[in-house]
Amino acid sequence: MFRKVHYHLTILCAGTTAAILLVMSLVYLYVSESGLTQSQFLSFQHAMDNFVNNFKQQNVITHEWLSRMEANNSYFIRITDNGVPLLFSQRKHGQDRLNTEEEALDYFSSSFSIENTDPSEEDMVYHSEFPFTASTGEDYYACVARISREKQYTEILVLYPLQELNAKIKNQRIHFALIDLAAVFLLSLFSFFFTKKLLAPIERNRKEQIQFVAAASHELRTPLAVILSSVSAIKKASPEEKENFLSTIASEGQRMSRLISDMLLLSQADAHAFPVRLQPVECDTLLLNSFEAFEPMAKEKNISFAISLPRTALPPCLCDGERLSQVISILFHNAISYTPSGGSISASLSLDTIKKSEVLTLSVIDNGIGIPDEEKDKIFQRFYRSDRSRSVKDHFGLGLPIASEIIRSLEGTIRVMDTPGGGSTFLVRLPFRP
Ligand code: ADP
Repeated sequence: MFRKVHYHLTILCAGTTAAILLVMSLVYLYVSESGLTQSQFLSFQHAMDNFVNNFKQQNVITHEWLSRMEANNSYFIRITDNGVPLLFSQRKHGQDRLNTEEEALDYFSSSFSIENTDPSEEDMVYHSEFPFTASTGEDYYACVARISREKQYTEILVLYPLQELNAKIKNQRIHFALIDLAAVFLLSLFSFFFTKKLLAPIERNRKEQIQFVAAASHELRTPLAVILSSVSAIKKASPEEKENFLSTIASEGQRMSRLISDMLLLSQADAHAFPVRLQPVECDTLLLNSFEAFEPMAKEKNISFAISLPRTALPPCLCDGERLSQVISILFHNAISYTPSGGSISASLSLDTIKKSEVLTLSVIDNGIGIPDEEKDKIFQRFYRSDRSRSVKDHFGLGLPIASEIIRSLEGTIRVMDTPGGGSTFLVRLPFRP
C-alpha cells in the first residue's frame, strides 16, 4: 500500500512541478520570441526606410549597388519601371524565387490598399512592410515600395528570408526542451526520494502499530485462555478445586487489567495526552517509600537491597510524584526480577550540577543477569523482552517503554549501562525545579 502511495505522491509532486516549469518556460519562450520577432521586424522596417530613400535619391541605380544590397543583406530584390522588370531583375533566378516574388506581390495587392497614392503623382514615395509565408513554407519579411519620379513609376519588392531568425527561435526551443526534460528528470528523482523520506516515519509508525496490536493480542490471549479453561473446568470441580480455579481467574483477570492499563497509558503518550501534574515533591522521601514497598520482595528472593540518599534532605522540587514513583517501581521491580537470589541492588539519589543546571540523578544498580549491548536500545521498545528474561512471569515488556515515556514527559533522560563486574545500572536524570 505504501509503495502505491509513494508512487502516487512522486507522480503528483513531479507532475505539478513539471507543469509549473512547462508553463513558465512557454511564457518565457512566448515573450522572448515575440521580442525577437518584433525587434527584427523593426530593424527590417528601418532598413527599408533607408533603402527606399537611398533608392529615390540616386539618379542612376547600378547593378553593383543592387547586387551588393542583395549579397550583404540576403535580400531578394525585384524592381519594375513602369511595369517592366529592370535588367537587374531579369537575371536568371530559380523558379522558386520567381514564384515567391509573385506570391508576395499578390499577397500585397490582396491585403493592402494604398491610400492617397496615385502612381502618376509627382514625387510620390510609398513603402509598406509585412511578414509573409510563401507556399514553399518559408517565412519572409517583405517590403513593397512605389516611387514615382518624373512620370517614371518604379515598384520595388524586397524579400528578406527569415531562415536565420527561425533557426535562432528553433534552437532556443530545443535548448528549453532539453533543459525542461533534464529538470523534469531531476525533479522526479528528487520527488521520489523526498516523498520516500516523508513517508518513512508514517510507515515506521504503521509497522509499530501492527506489531503493538499483535503483541498486545498475544499477551491478552494467554490470561484469557487460562480464565476460559478455568471457567469450563470449574463446573465439574470439587469445592476445594473450585476455590483454586477462582483464585486463578482473579489473578489472571488482574494481570489482564494491569496490561490494559499499561497499554492505555502508552496510547495516551502516543496521543500526547499524557497527564503530568507538576507539584512540589520531596523526591528523597518518594524514593524511600518505594524502597520500603519493595524491600520485602527483595528479602523474599534473598537479595540485598540498599539505598543511599543525600545527607541533608533535598528541597522539594516541581515534579509529578505519582509518575516518578511509577518509574522507580518499574526499575525496582525489574532489578529484583532479573537479579538472582544472593545478588544485590542499590539505589541512590543525588542533586548534581551539569552544564550550570541543577539535575536530580537517580540510579538503580544491580548485579543481576545484565543486558547485552545489542539489546540496550531494544529494551525500551514496546513488548520487547529478551530471551533470557522470558521465564520471568508477570512481565509484559511494557515497563521500560512506560518509564521512558514518563521521563520524557518530565523532560528528563533515562539510559542503561553495565554495572562494573556484571549486572545493569539504570540512570535517570531530571531537571531540578525548586
Ligand atoms: P518487562 O516487563 O519484561 O520487565 P521492561 O520493559 O521493563 O519489560 O523490560 C524489558 C526487558 O529489559 C526485560 O524483558 C528484560 O529483558 C530487560 N531488563 C529490564 N530491566 C533489567 C534489569 N535490571 N536487568 C536485566 N535485564 C533487564
